[in-house]
Amino acid sequence: MKLPPFDYASPATVAEAVALMAAHGEDAKLLAGGQSLVPMLAFRVTSPSLIVDLRKLDELRQIIISDQGVTLGAMVRWRDILEDARLRTAHPLLVTAVEHVAHYQIRNRGTVGGSVAHADPAAEMPGIAVTCDAEIAVAGQAGSRTIAAADFFRGPLMTALTPDEIIISVKLPPWPQGRHFGFQEFARRKGDFAIAGVALFHDRDNGGKVRDAHVGAIGMSDRPLRLAAAESALNGKIVDDITIAAAAAAARGGVDPPDDIHASGAYRRALIGTLVERALKA
Ligand SMILES: Cc1cc2nc3c(=O)[nH]c(=O)nc-3n(C[C@H](O)[C@H](O)[C@H](O)COP(=O)(O)OP(=O)(O)OC[C@H]3O[C@@H](n4cnc5c(N)ncnc54)[C@H](O)[C@@H]3O)c2cc1C
Repeated sequence: MKLPPFDYASPATVAEAVALMAAHGEDAKLLAGGQSLVPMLAFRVTSPSLIVDLRKLDELRQIIISDQGVTLGAMVRWRDILEDARLRTAHPLLVTAVEHVAHYQIRNRGTVGGSVAHADPAAEMPGIAVTCDAEIAVAGQAGSRTIAAADFFRGPLMTALTPDEIIISVKLPPWPQGRHFGFQEFARRKGDFAIAGVALFHDRDNGGKVRDAHVGAIGMSDRPLRLAAAESALNGKIVDDITIAAAAAAARGGVDPPDDIHASGAYRRALIGTLVERALKA
C-alpha cells in the first residue's frame, strides 16, 4: 500500500531534531531504520504530518565500551552489533540476543533506538534492556534525562517518552568476565518475532553458588518482564537439575500471558519454563 502523504525533514543535529519534534508534537514521527515505522505508515496505523529522519545524526551511531559498560547509540543497527568483535566479550548476552532479531535485510537497517521506542513486547532489545537494568538516555525540549529500562516500557508500543523526546543511547552496565548467561527463544520461523524468549545471567561465588541472578522474559506480557521468583529460585544455589527445575517452575508461576492468534496463554506459560531450563543448561 502507498504511504500517506507527509512532510520530510532531515536535521543535522540532535538539537534541531528536538526542536522539530517539540514544534509538531504528536503530529511528527522520528524515522530511524524504518523497519517498523514504514509498515505502520503503509497500514495507516499512524499518519504523521511530518517525518523527522535521524539519518544525518552520526553522533547516534557510536558503540562505546568502557569500564562503565556498553553504550549503544540510538542509530546503532543490529548489523553493527553483530559485526563489532569487541562486543563478543564486552556483552555476549546482547550479541546472542541480537542474532535472533529478524532477517538479514532488516538487521541492515533496524536500530537499537527504533526498537526500544517501538516497544514491541516480543522484541529482543527491550528484553535485554530490562533484564540488564539498562539506562535509556533521552533528549527533549526540557533537556536530557535518563530513564531506567524498568520504568521505560509502559505497554505494547507505549513508553515513558514524551512526544518531543528522542532516544540518544542505551547503556548496559559492565559485564564481568566469566559471567554465566543464556538466551533462548521460540519462534515459528527463524527471524520471526518470538512467541516467547528468555534472557538470563548470573555470577557465582567462590563456592559456585549463584549470586545476582537476572531472569527476563519477552512475549509473556504487554511489555518485557523480570521474573523475580525465578531469580530467587537461583540465588544462593548451585546450578544443578533440582535448581533448574525449581527456576523453571518459578518462571511458569510468575507469568500470566494472554491468549492471542499465535499461541494460547497456557502454551506460552509452559514454554517459558522450558526456555528457562534450556538457558540454564546452555
Ligand atoms: C518482517 C520483520 C520482522 C521483524 N522481526 C523482528 C524480530 O524478530 N525482533 C525484533 O526485535 N524486531 C523485529 N523487527 C523489527 C526491527 O527489529 C526494527 O529494526 C525495530 O522495530 C526498530 O525499527 P527501526 O530502527 O527501523 O525504527 P523505525 O521503524 O524507524 O522507528 C520505529 C519507532 O521508533 C521511533 N523512533 C525511532 N528512533 C527513535 C529515537 N531515536 N528516539 C525516539 N523514537 C524513535 C519511530 O518514530 C517509530 O515510532 C522486524 C521487522 C520486520 C519488518
